[in-house]
Amino acid sequence: MVTHPADVQLSSALDVSAIRKEFPILDQRVNGHRLVYLDSAASSQKPRAVVDSIRRYYETSHANVHRGLHTLSMRATEAYEAARRKVADFIGAADPCEVVFVRSTTEAINLVAASWGPVNVGEGDEILLSVLEHHSNIVPWQLLAQRVGAKLKYVEIDGEGRLQLDQLRELLTERTKLVAVTHVSNGLGTINPVREIVDAAHQAGALVLVDGAQGAPHLPLDMQALGADFYTLSGHKMCGPTGIGVLWGKAELLEEMPPYEGGGEMIEVVERDRSTYKSTPHKFEAGTPNIAGTIGLGAAIDFLNDVGLDRLVHHEREIIAYALERTRDIPGFHGFGPASDRAAVLSFELSELHPHDLAQFLDSRGIAVRAGHHCNQPLMRSLGVNATTRASFYLYNDKDDVDALCEALSDSLDFFEVKPPPSPPSPS
Ligand code: PMP
Repeated sequence: MVTHPADVQLSSALDVSAIRKEFPILDQRVNGHRLVYLDSAASSQKPRAVVDSIRRYYETSHANVHRGLHTLSMRATEAYEAARRKVADFIGAADPCEVVFVRSTTEAINLVAASWGPVNVGEGDEILLSVLEHHSNIVPWQLLAQRVGAKLKYVEIDGEGRLQLDQLRELLTERTKLVAVTHVSNGLGTINPVREIVDAAHQAGALVLVDGAQGAPHLPLDMQALGADFYTLSGHKMCGPTGIGVLWGKAELLEEMPPYEGGGEMIEVVERDRSTYKSTPHKFEAGTPNIAGTIGLGAAIDFLNDVGLDRLVHHEREIIAYALERTRDIPGFHGFGPASDRAAVLSFELSELHPHDLAQFLDSRGIAVRAGHHCNQPLMRSLGVNATTRASFYLYNDKDDVDALCEALSDSLDFFEVKPPPSPPSPS
């Protein structure tokens, strides 16, 4: 019998084997082994409900949105706008008009940099980032800074991989226009104290953009409580399809911002030499949007709500605590990131093994991990490494997956004939 996620809610802990049955892709063998998928920070897998919602939409309701007066177009429009309301509820937005559908977190950040940026950031102004940032929360600001003559500053991390908040406060000046920080680090799993950062930034007169690509899939969200000005997310990291993401912004900010792209859907009246625009969010959604993607994202949100975000958080805490405990015994294992209060992301080095070799070995055991700089080159430099191996866990992973990883890591030491590290000198 297939357990519906709603049934899973009956027990207090996550029933991972029931959840796994909702993800058909996980039910396969890779290289002769059970697939152990530990790359959800790069992209999560999709439950059947999401895949079905997209198929159902194309089979019963597809037409272009907003323009048509026929039944299918109205049905598609209703489904598209219903997805917007679901996102708004999920993130605790004050109003669905604050939810702009974009392609991804990357596009959301580029939208703010291209639209809000040149109007609000000028020569000599400062944008404050952190070394934890993904390239998609660095490069758009570099492009803006180069265009307007602004300066980028970076908050460093401490030995555990947490942001140095004292330094953040010191780096804030009257020239700081924006603080752009990640909610959760994809490289280390650090969960940033966003509320504290927002309070400090606002006190200095700066706005705050939070990169929520790793926050939205794993943490309950409330935009009112978080207090930030912009928040971004990517559907594909939270059980939804690729090609759909969200920019949330405070309504008054979005209303003031000029359009990002021009085209159909975003206009009211088009003259030969000028146009007037719709209000937000439609002003930012030029052209035919990813209708199927929004519907799939809505289904993903239903799925996550059925599972329960609080229980998801609890489960992930258990998994990462177990992984930290188990990996401690593996000779030559060196993990990065905070010892506690962190997301279920495990970045590590194993002896002198190259992360790519290790990832290939793990793949030969059916274990999917990521190896490289994780689009975190400034962070890698801060850590003094070129690359790490990263295992990232989600709601369909359990302790068996951690055990499979640890066993394969131990075996890799034999496979690559790694000599055991010298034992510490005995006390004289
Ligand atoms: N920020 C963070 C923290 C991420 O982990 C990622 C994806 N790895 C991104 C931004 C970019 O997301 P996307 O590729 O979906 O735009």
